[in-house]
Amino acid sequence: MESRGTKREAGEIEVAEPGNKLPRPAPSLPTDPALYSGPFPFYRRPSELGCFSLDAQRQYHGDARALRYYSPPPTNGQSPNFDLRDGYPDRYQPRDEEVQERLDHLLRWLLAHRGQLEGGPGWLAGAIVTWRGHLTKLLTTPYERQEGWQLAASRFQGTLYLSEVETPAARVQRLTRPPLLRELMYMGYKFEQYMCADKPGVSPDPSGEVNTNVAFCSVLRSRLGNHPLLFSGEVDCTNPQAPSTQPPTCYVELKTSKEMHSPGQWKSFYRHKLLKWWAQSFLPGVPNVVAGFRNPEGFVCSLKTFPTMEMFEYVRNDRDGWNPSVCMNFCAAFLSFAQNTVVEDDPRLVYLFSWEPGGPVTVSEHRDAPHAFLPPWPPGPHQSAWPQSGPVPPPAD
Ligand code: GDP
Ligand code: MG
Repeated sequence: MESRGTKREAGEIEVAEPGNKLPRPAPSLPTDPALYSGPFPFYRRPSELGCFSLDAQRQYHGDARALRYYSPPPTNGQSPNFDLRDGYPDRYQPRDEEVQERLDHLLRWLLAHRGQLEGGPGWLAGAIVTWRGHLTKLLTTPYERQEGWQLAASRFQGTLYLSEVETPAARVQRLTRPPLLRELMYMGYKFEQYMCADKPGVSPDPSGEVNTNVAFCSVLRSRLGNHPLLFSGEVDCTNPQAPSTQPPTCYVELKTSKEMHSPGQWKSFYRHKLLKWWAQSFLPGVPNVVAGFRNPEGFVCSLKTFPTMEMFEYVRNDRDGWNPSVCMNFCAAFLSFAQNTVVEDDPRLVYLFSWEPGGPVTVSEHRDAPHAFLPPWPPGPHQSAWPQSGPVPPPAD
């Protein structure tokens, strides 16, 4: 007997039948802003679930020891005069950027706290776990014209984990970073040292080293549309004098930027920098960004506080400005796209989402090294923590 569909007449139209394997176009997600305008989606007020610290040796501690306290200079009519180049390079201990930590520190926090998570049984199984910085990149994607990104995604016990992969272009940029750009990075951290103290109510001490291994990370819960989120972000400092001392509303993000002189310079600042500042601080509910404006000699001579919730006002009437709804709707669309792509529950299976400016988000499938980023076995109750970082050995029998 002849099987169906083997005998054809010229011009016969192929009909999709169940079981008929038609070539399916590779799924992709467009990023044009026009596709994501529409009402602002639901975004749950972020709440802090906990925190952790990384010390000068980049060692994890499940406490707030690295949290610093906002301590701006006295407002007695004088302007600040912070030399951001002071201590460079002799008092600079930069983090080793060759070490790819992926989600390791956040996973270590999660392993210690997964039994006590709020939200009811099964909340984590329905959630997305990632770094705040990865979500920031998603928010700004519809407006980004320079840098692409790659995000690796795996599902484990229901939870969708997202971990950034450095693109080949980003790696080249990092390895060929011009000396002036290296110094500019230092200057951002040096500003934090001028503005923060190790204890509340004391003045900053800018005489010590700048060690970028040290980090205080807040772990937050939120929800975008129907996507429950658990993410962590590095927090610069807490303001002991904030109206509410409850995190994350007491947190302050510190930034430096070039001094501006013309209306055109301000317009460009609102269009490009404020978008990134807004996305980064809106996600964790950090209410204020304090900017230090530096002159060409590298001195901060003026400070300005930008409330996160007021940043959009600077571009609301700008045809070439950004729109928070577009950012959040695109992020929600990407999270749905990822949830629908990563169907199988297997920590060895990785979907790599790739995006370059001007194109859509595309996907490729991988197994094990080098992209797998979750420990390959369900951690049992006797295992109190994952190893610090790097590849995880199989459990001893
Ligand atoms: P951000 O919003 O981009 O600053 O990133 P997060 O706040 O989400 O930081 C997540 C973790 O990644 C923290 O432990 C940071 O110290 C670390 N981190 C942030 N930026 C970088 C980076 O450029 N390179 C590396 N290797 N780690 C980073
Ligand atoms: Mg900062």
